[in-house]
Amino acid sequence: MHRITSGELHSTYTLGDLRITALRDGYVDMPVGRLRQRGAKPFGDDLPEQVPLFGGQLRLSVNAFAIDDGNEIILIDTGAANAWHPTMGRLPQALDEAGIDVEKVRTVCFTHTHLDHIHGLVLADGRDAFPRLARLLVPRQELGLFRTEARLKRFHEMAQPFEAGDRLGTHVDIIGAHGHEVGHSCFRVSSGGEHILIWGDTVHVPSLQFDRPEVTWEFDEDQDQARESRLRLLALAADDHCFVAGAHLDSPGIGRVVRSGGGFRFEPL
Ligand SMILES: [Zn+2]
Repeated sequence: MHRITSGELHSTYTLGDLRITALRDGYVDMPVGRLRQRGAKPFGDDLPEQVPLFGGQLRLSVNAFAIDDGNEIILIDTGAANAWHPTMGRLPQALDEAGIDVEKVRTVCFTHTHLDHIHGLVLADGRDAFPRLARLLVPRQELGLFRTEARLKRFHEMAQPFEAGDRLGTHVDIIGAHGHEVGHSCFRVSSGGEHILIWGDTVHVPSLQFDRPEVTWEFDEDQDQARESRLRLLALAADDHCFVAGAHLDSPGIGRVVRSGGGFRFEPL
């Protein structure tokens, strides 16, 4: 992978014959106590020094990723629009900065259905963000959750399920990464012998969870399963030389994973 363009809200890379663009929707600040040590114990004053704080809080980037094969663009996650804190919702500006025509986004897929991933389907002013959307893919286990979101009501019937093992076209296959949410999924994109795992919320706090992947997140629906999925994807990325793209890795959120000590290390690209 090589970076070909970048700006405040985007970075575009080659992956074989494809272009992968990281899009910055914004960030969200969260209390330290969301991080869980063994035994589901929250961190407090014992938070390791390696974790940077902003006004005493953890700062999580919120990113989405576009896959462009030259004909069509698949968007993985869509940010929060105006459905959560006002520090998010910049996806439309990020797409514009990256030179991505929203009319070419025909497929949107969600890694899971938490609000910082799905609400960007609808702009803050209520219009559709992707006027020529043809396919909306939601993890099968989360279709019901998706259909409880009143703000996205006009997409409830359009949503189609996918599951681990499915393939989207020639370049994308889906790997189960359940735990953070019941259908949480990873998209493995391959071209020209290169691979990237677009892995959603596998890591929330990169300054800690590569080094100590056993640390979980309060909002992991199943903490043990989330930990197992994280360890499995970290090992896959490190051992099979897959790049990774994370919704909450520091923007642009793309890099390599290497084994380090008993854990792993992230090398941003
Ligand atoms: Zn998230």
